[in-house]
Amino acid sequence: MNINASGWRPERPDTDAAALDGAPATFTGNRALMLEEALIFEIGTTETTGVDIEAAPAVTTRLGGLERHAAIGLAGLAEPEAVRHYTRLSRQNYAIDLGLFPLGSCTMKHNPRLNEKMARLPGFADIHPLQPVDSVQGALAVIHELAEWLVTLTGMKAVAMSPKAGAHGELCGILCIKAALEARGEGHRKVILVPESAHGTNPATAAFAGYSVEDIPATPEGRVDTAALKARLGPDIAGVMITNPNTCGLFERDLKEISDAVHAVGGYVYCDGANFNAIVGRVRPGDLGVDAMHINLHKTFSTPHGGGGPGSGPVVLSAALAPFAPLPFVEKEGDHFVLVEEETAQDHHDQSFGRMTAFHGQMGMFTRALSYILSHGADGLRQVAEDAVLNANYVLRRLEDVLDAPFAGSGPCMHEALFSDDGFPEGFSTLDVAKGLIDEGFHPMTVYFPLVVHGAMLVEPTETESKAALDQFIGALRSVALRAKAGDATLKTAPHFAPRARLDETQAARKPVLAWREPVALAAE
Ligand SMILES: *Cc1c(COP(=O)(O)O)cnc(C)c1O
Repeated sequence: MNINASGWRPERPDTDAAALDGAPATFTGNRALMLEEALIFEIGTTETTGVDIEAAPAVTTRLGGLERHAAIGLAGLAEPEAVRHYTRLSRQNYAIDLGLFPLGSCTMKHNPRLNEKMARLPGFADIHPLQPVDSVQGALAVIHELAEWLVTLTGMKAVAMSPKAGAHGELCGILCIKAALEARGEGHRKVILVPESAHGTNPATAAFAGYSVEDIPATPEGRVDTAALKARLGPDIAGVMITNPNTCGLFERDLKEISDAVHAVGGYVYCDGANFNAIVGRVRPGDLGVDAMHINLHKTFSTPHGGGGPGSGPVVLSAALAPFAPLPFVEKEGDHFVLVEEETAQDHHDQSFGRMTAFHGQMGMFTRALSYILSHGADGLRQVAEDAVLNANYVLRRLEDVLDAPFAGSGPCMHEALFSDDGFPEGFSTLDVAKGLIDEGFHPMTVYFPLVVHGAMLVEPTETESKAALDQFIGALRSVALRAKAGDATLKTAPHFAPRARLDETQAARKPVLAWREPVALAAE
């Protein structure tokens, strides 16, 4: 164990020897600007507090025996120590503002700073959801205008703006389907069909809403098996959930045929629109028979996501589902915007299934998304899709000679390039490539998803990367892939230049340690 001025230090992983490449170990465990950082409990102590407060005077408690008797157990750090701890940790993050973020199925693109500036205007940033409607007409105008763009771009009838993420939007869409079925007296339809390649949120949403989920297989070329899907249709089907473009990075060409078949048996079509980035301005899901689709504003319309969230997942709805949309929503009456907050028969708003959130959704995201849309214009949005697809195809074609590309023969990809570890020597896998990329200074691509491909590596470069940036990334991935194919043993212990190397991810997921415990055994050493 390593002790230094800031306290207890965990041992670095045993890849150190290789990592240091003959350089001496440092006293601190730091490597120049790459600073080792222990847990806050390890550098602070639970015995002290960071502030001086006089002991509380003796009082008669009115807590009825519920008062605390033990120490609260917070790590005691002075302000500069706490600030430095979090600043050091923040430097260990990879971020879209540091470099290319090739996560597939996630659209991690640049968030233009203009959007931030607009969202921070006090008229948007400093308002409250309970303010009188007359005093927030500008904000309602933003929600309304964004809603019109979303409805127009998707060719749908209406949009529910309040869901706060893609998965929340899925739930909203499925609840609309449920309400529509119940209104028809067909609440007994209990099955939702989901393709094998679906994002995990799709089956989770359907199950959460009380449906039983059945898988639809994929064809060898990576698309939904339309024949198998049609064969399963019947009076127990509530609907299907299909991602288009799908998670293999391919356009589902049969979607219209599928929608017609699902509608013919009385079901509804949910489309997972997380990949709308690849088709915005080129394809209107409404034309393909879609009844509900969420749009991840934080993906397609470039609002921050991940640690920079929150997200926003408006759901566009067909005429069949629009009456069931959740409250509240904004309507324009002459020059005035009103907020419809209650179901009323006289306004024909009596079928809403209820609410998804307390208020109106993510105002900051709406402002950013509208700013992004207006600064691109309709032609610019179309180019977004074209460039996203072009970039992905460039990545695919530049790497298919060193990495297996299972669907490269299915025609051009959409916004994502899919590879696999097929052809790697014994003992080498996708994980080694991901870890090797970390040493090259890149966040790894999505790995082991979609599940339909063994050892999948899914790369989504997005339209905001230049050719130079793509070439740099392609060069790094080529080099790591070639090392894997050559059976380079140093790749098995990568990353060598990251603060932590190979964590036991299974253990971390299955048995997470969520609260710090005094390391009794270690302290006794
Ligand atoms: C991101 C994503 C989702 C979920 O969206 P969140 O905003 O993360 O909840 C669902 N489906 C697909 C295909 C996605 O890529």
